[in-house]
Amino acid sequence: LQLLQYVSTQSAIAIKNADLYDMAIRDGMTKLFIHKYFKRRMEEEWRRSSRYGTSLSLIIFDIDHFKNVNDTYGHQGGDKILKEVAKVIGDNCRSTDIACRYGGEEFSVILPETPGSEAMKFAERIRNIIEMMRISYNDAVVQLTISSGVASFPEENARTVEGFIGMADSALYYSKNNGRNRVTLYTKELLP
Ligand code: GH3
Ligand code: MG
Ligand code: MG
Repeated sequence: LQLLQYVSTQSAIAIKNADLYDMAIRDGMTKLFIHKYFKRRMEEEWRRSSRYGTSLSLIIFDIDHFKNVNDTYGHQGGDKILKEVAKVIGDNCRSTDIACRYGGEEFSVILPETPGSEAMKFAERIRNIIEMMRISYNDAVVQLTISSGVASFPEENARTVEGFIGMADSALYYSKNNGRNRVTLYTKELLP
């Protein structure tokens, strides 16, 4: 009986520690992974891909004109809408993908062993779902769009993981500067 009690106490502690760890690496609002965890996993996946030559993709999403959403519906309305967008991204990921809250209304998804063509399909699916989505808030129905940038290894190579993240960022800014509500794949030709 003593042994069983000991085992059950230890198991309870292990479960509690796992819960605490999960809470520590997830954003309270969206339940996606926090930026710090994103960076750690990105470095790991980057090292793995560079070492073994496996493909790796990264998508950064940024909601279009989100300031207007806050101005129109208030910060609480903005928060509700942020949660809905995060849910779409999280629910559409595969179990091996790592969906993160990159910043305020920016999200990132790390897609290990995924070539650019597949990452583009995923980003395009998210773009389309968000465009079609209607979110009820009080008496209003809110519509929005999202822009994204995709970087893929080994189609394009960067010297450092920061350089790789920078490629997804440049592609996102290309989307923003070319009409928004679109997905851009980084290539040297497009963004030298
Ligand atoms: P753009 O299309 O260029 O991205 O325009 P934008 O208005 O979305 O511009 P930007 O991405 O720079 O704006 C981010 C805005 O998101 C500013 C900030 O007030 C809002 N925001 C960031 N985090 C939160 C949050 O947690 N909750 C709410 N409600 N708003 C947030
Ligand atoms: Mg932003
Ligand atoms: Mg934005």
